[in-house]
Amino acid sequence: MDLQKGIPRPEVPKEEIVEAYTKCCLCGSDLTYSYSTDYMNFKVTEQATCPSCGVKNRTHDYVIN
Ligand SMILES: [Zn+2]
Repeated sequence: MDLQKGIPRPEVPKEEIVEAYTKCCLCGSDLTYSYSTDYMNFKVTEQATCPSCGVKNRTHDYVIN
C-alpha cells in the first residue's frame, strides 16, 4: 500500500449530489425551500418541504455575520 497517495475518495458525480439535495427522498418531487430569517439572533433557518407528500426533510441554520 502506498501511503503517499492517501485515502482514495469515491467518485460521486456532482449531478447526483445536486439531485439528492433538491429532490424528495420519498417520491422524487422537487423540494421547495423556505427560509425564515431571525434578525434578533442573526440566523437564517432553511427548510425543505416536499409539495407532494409534505415531508419536511431538511433544516439548516445559517448564522449571519
Ligand atoms: Zn415527497
